[in-house]
Amino acid sequence: MRTLTSRTPRKRWLMRLLAVCVPLSALLPCGALAQADGAYPITLVVHGGAGTILRENMTPELEAAYRAELAEALRVGYAVLNEGGRSLDAVEATLRVLEDSPLFNAGRGAVFTNDGIVELDASIMDGATHNAGAVAGVRHVRHPITLARRVMEASPHVMLVGDGAEVFAREQGMEMVPNTYFHTERRRQQLEAAQQAGSATGALHAPAVPAGDAMEPVHKFGTVGAVALDRQGNLAAGTSTGGMTNKRWGRVGDSPIIGAGTYADNATCAVSATGHGEYFIRGVVAHDIAALMAYGGRSLQEAADHVILEKLGAAGGTGGVIALDREGHVAMPFNTPGMYRGVVDASGTVRVYIYRDE
Ligand code: ASP
Repeated sequence: MRTLTSRTPRKRWLMRLLAVCVPLSALLPCGALAQADGAYPITLVVHGGAGTILRENMTPELEAAYRAELAEALRVGYAVLNEGGRSLDAVEATLRVLEDSPLFNAGRGAVFTNDGIVELDASIMDGATHNAGAVAGVRHVRHPITLARRVMEASPHVMLVGDGAEVFAREQGMEMVPNTYFHTERRRQQLEAAQQAGSATGALHAPAVPAGDAMEPVHKFGTVGAVALDRQGNLAAGTSTGGMTNKRWGRVGDSPIIGAGTYADNATCAVSATGHGEYFIRGVVAHDIAALMAYGGRSLQEAADHVILEKLGAAGGTGGVIALDREGHVAMPFNTPGMYRGVVDASGTVRVYIYRDE
């Protein structure tokens, strides 16, 4: 075996050059040499939940309402990016629109727990710094995605839950609302249907079901998520949800779990997931997609397709993700009949899709 001292002068020179260059390149964000700062293709992708979303179950009015709401959320986020704003701000602004919409399972219009109340989960992650914030089981915070952002930026922690998260929210001066603010009649009916289905099967406890599960009456979908790329080349991801209808015992799904339902990393991608959360937690789905890119050399599309269409399905999980890389590539695989989703690209063109064949 050759030793260091046996190297020729030319090799030694090469080693020195490498020793200087490698740490220098580590200081630069990935792709910085290829893309001038401020010239990245601003892109925003949104989802509004995956599940058994079928044309035959949809009225033209409801379909139009979903499309309009997704498009509006994309326009709000795009305006932030187009003015030179940060991807984190775009993700938060986009998700606040959807949290306010009773159509989606986040904020107002979220699903009910077994006890007939609403408990909300959310998370956000900054791809530039890997900073992250998350909240779970909050009951009175109008915009859980903003609380997740405050956890990231105004606390030394990553995740706060329940009453403690709400004490922090009050200290932060966040808008608090009574739990009834989140309640809607159609979610109440959905809870009753889930509880009846559970007692019909003789189950000890009616199971918690994802908002898009086939056993439920139609049109009951809607965890929301967003991923964004800003001009500076920074990726961000966020997800907000009411979780699963009829959940109990403080059940928390993947949406507020960094690496499962939300992940962002400038060197690979930003991901937000929706679906049966337990499978996304076990599969560490969002991080798995990034890891396949980082360690497996896969493209964004290959990595996202492999994790959702092969691994998640094989494990018995249902759902999908939206994913975005630094070059503005978008992947939106799902293994359910439909997923509410949309993209706005650098030109400002907004595209919204619902069904599998779109
Ligand atoms: N992933 C969410 C959860 O399990 C639900 C959903 O996306 O529909 O809490």
